[in-house]
Amino acid sequence: MRDIQFKKKYGQNFLKDDSIPKKIVAYSAIPEDTLVIEIGPGAGALTKELAPCCKQVLAYEIDDSLSSILAVNLEPYSNIDIVYADFLTRDVKEDLKKYSYSHLYVIANLPYYITTPILLKLIEEHISVDKIVVMVQKEVGIRFSAKPGSRDYGSITVFFHYYFQLKKLFDVSRNCFVPKPNVDSVILSFTKKDYLLPLKNQDFFFQLVRDAFQFKRKTLKNNLKKYNLNIIEQVLSCHSLDLSVRAEALSLEIFVELSNALT
Ligand code: SAM
Repeated sequence: MRDIQFKKKYGQNFLKDDSIPKKIVAYSAIPEDTLVIEIGPGAGALTKELAPCCKQVLAYEIDDSLSSILAVNLEPYSNIDIVYADFLTRDVKEDLKKYSYSHLYVIANLPYYITTPILLKLIEEHISVDKIVVMVQKEVGIRFSAKPGSRDYGSITVFFHYYFQLKKLFDVSRNCFVPKPNVDSVILSFTKKDYLLPLKNQDFFFQLVRDAFQFKRKTLKNNLKKYNLNIIEQVLSCHSLDLSVRAEALSLEIFVELSNALT
């Protein structure tokens, strides 16, 4: 670690010792025959704990100057492939075709500057993940797990709750990293739901939710002007709501109902 030039632009805060990676792997309860995708192996602190517990690790690292340290640190393991590329622009589905596995997990200490785009990519590109266990900034963790009616509830919350059961696993202090970040972190797990609420059109649902939250202080009447407001009003009235509410008042179930009524 002493020789690494940490790059702030890539969100490089590396875990200092083995205890947190070991705990992340233990909490992840990885079944046999699992392929684990890791985004940002850094110097390999988490990667070397994952390798003995799964069939294969497929790691994406944007910073290829880490290749020599990773080669040394991960030398004992033959089931790790590292792709030096930007995860966000990579065709991950194409990469996965090379492997056979029964379960797909994503386990990572995420680069904080792109936490949401990484998680959205998994959803929007239909990468069929069984479970995601990730370290995120504490405030981001609060937003992801927010309940309807709270200030932190937003479109991202609705998307994630549509597909996944969210759980906070444990907190991680800023003192566990080098260099030390300004915030504490939390480990979250997202487990794919066995049953998804039936949606007529997923892309439409995503757009509707985004539009509903576009201006957080505005009512649905204002944010959803371009949709059929009569239909929206009818659905809302079944839940004793009207067009003067804000998106933050609507549960996932009501969003799904609205989306299906409008398509
Ligand atoms: N896993 C290591 C650990 O826990 O010590 C490092 C985690 S560090 C918070 C985030 C890592 O993600 C860095 O190694 C960084 O270079 C990498 N990274 C940043 N942006 C990336 C991207 N777009 N695609 C792939 N890796 C990225």
